[in-house]
Amino acid sequence: MATSDKFLTAEELRRLLEKSHYPPDTRDYNHLTEALLLQQENSKTGWLRLIKNLQIIKNCPRQKVNVNSVEVLTMLNPARKQSLTSTTFEKNPSPKKCFLCNLEEEQKGIGILNNKYIILANPGVTFRGDLTIASTKHENQILKGHFKDMIEIAKLLTNFSIFYNGAMAGASSTHFHFQGSYKNRLIGELQILKLLKGGKINGSYLTALIDTSSLKVLSVERFLRKTIVIITHKAESLISFFEKFYECIAEVSKDIRNFRHAPDFGSYIKSMGIKETEGRMNIMLRYEPGGEYFICVVFPKLTNRPTFYFENDANKIILGFAIKESLGTIITFRKSDYKKLINNPSLIKKAYTDTTLPDELFQRLIEKIKEYK
Ligand SMILES: [Zn+2]
Repeated sequence: MATSDKFLTAEELRRLLEKSHYPPDTRDYNHLTEALLLQQENSKTGWLRLIKNLQIIKNCPRQKVNVNSVEVLTMLNPARKQSLTSTTFEKNPSPKKCFLCNLEEEQKGIGILNNKYIILANPGVTFRGDLTIASTKHENQILKGHFKDMIEIAKLLTNFSIFYNGAMAGASSTHFHFQGSYKNRLIGELQILKLLKGGKINGSYLTALIDTSSLKVLSVERFLRKTIVIITHKAESLISFFEKFYECIAEVSKDIRNFRHAPDFGSYIKSMGIKETEGRMNIMLRYEPGGEYFICVVFPKLTNRPTFYFENDANKIILGFAIKESLGTIITFRKSDYKKLINNPSLIKKAYTDTTLPDELFQRLIEKIKEYK
């Protein structure tokens, strides 16, 4: 079925909004998205896989773990099995039909940015309201040419944080997509916001890299993973800085070579039919309508798989580090992995160290960022 047949009609949306506590304003994408979620979660009209997974996360074990004075939330969540075991970008992926071109019968969505994208419920839920925002045509998972769209989407979906996972940094589909989640659900997101407001998170602190009247760029130090935060009131400032950043991270990434269990940068990506050109990163972007500014958080990455993913049997732990993990939520689907992680914070520290951009490369990235004018 073509993606365009999947849009809920204006009439359907109006009826759904009437049933919700939202005003029936079909121009507000926050309300429209909530209407979509209500439709997809409804036992009569909805999507069974999503409904089942929402049941799973209601009861799934979760525990905060203190890792080098930084708290993370570890979660045993079988709803994430599909994304954790996805091998779309690994050495010899088995050919699969694209699940974002071939939506399931029960899936419905909402068109956004003149139907260039479709907002869908993400069945691999960590929290209720997780979204997949997919391009309505099949294009490769490369951010170049889509970052302005990410900004526009963040400005329309102000109740949500918008996410991007690079192809070699934890995405599970080659089909271009963002993700979304209700704001302030993920522990790392809350910690970053607290630091920005001048609060304390044990040993973590902010260092300013750029501080002008229109743009602030900061690095979060002692935070387990390398983290860059960009704050600006102006979309143009964000676009212009990000264009430069995008070049810098690609340049630095050329030296991702011969790291154990991390693919060399620039290799041929079989599932996309191209050579890798994009620096590896997870991104969170949110727009704050109250103060009219953007918070963009970039996590530069080495890879998405910690080295123990490649160990045999007893030592293997199945993890995939993408934006949720970058934002402090460590998701496993096997009980044995979950137990190992909550009892050994050092394993979580190792998973971050294995997947974040290594010190030397990050330092070079920082030097390049500081040159930005
Ligand atoms: Zn596709």
